[in-house]
Amino acid sequence: MRYCQYCHQSYSETWSWAALFGLNAELLLCLSCTAKLELIKGDICRICGRSFSLFPEQYRQGDSCYDCIRWEEDEEWKGVLQQNRSLYVYNVFLKEVITKMKYRGDAELVKAFYPIARSKFKSNSRKSLLVPIPLSEERQYERGFNQSEIFAKILTSNVQPLLKRVTHEEKQSKKTRKDRITKKNNPFIVTDKSRVKEQSILLIDDVYTTGSTLRYAAKVLKDAGAVHISSITLAR
Ligand SMILES: [Zn+2]
Ligand SMILES: [Zn+2]
Repeated sequence: MRYCQYCHQSYSETWSWAALFGLNAELLLCLSCTAKLELIKGDICRICGRSFSLFPEQYRQGDSCYDCIRWEEDEEWKGVLQQNRSLYVYNVFLKEVITKMKYRGDAELVKAFYPIARSKFKSNSRKSLLVPIPLSEERQYERGFNQSEIFAKILTSNVQPLLKRVTHEEKQSKKTRKDRITKKNNPFIVTDKSRVKEQSILLIDDVYTTGSTLRYAAKVLKDAGAVHISSITLAR
């Protein structure tokens, strides 16, 4: 018997959810929780990795989505984040899971995703420095952990905390997109530029929503001399 990492119901190991959901690795969740997750597969945006099947055709242009095209048309942000790949669709259930993880301090819950994340992203992480998106010091203190750092540790024991968040999270999210997306509002700084220079960086975060957090992080790394910056998130 095993216990589901989310709902704590016991379940039998003889069932292979992995096979049932076409995965090549097992989740540490029960069948009913597993069924509520939507793995991103099929046709995806070349840049942000979102599934094309989930939004109207007019938001697609060739192999990219409208959001990404908007980023790429902006000289300041063009090519800054080369690619994002996410494991799951950010649906109602995954929102609950992530909320439980972040705000109720259930850091252990991320372990449910260890096997699948490892099998999916091991090859992405091989030649890069893995850098988690940091929390501000006050948020980190409140919460006691950084979920992105825990998620990064799934992929490597060698997580590099090379970014620091100097602006508190709330202040960012209250601004409109136009006010928000400028270089001077960047909440991140690179803590050790010498270690970033000429490196390939893989940023790790829990959710890709607008893509601005990851792009801000990518921007300071690029300015510090990183050559290739991509990212991985649990949800998109
Ligand atoms: Zn469950
Ligand atoms: Zn996209």
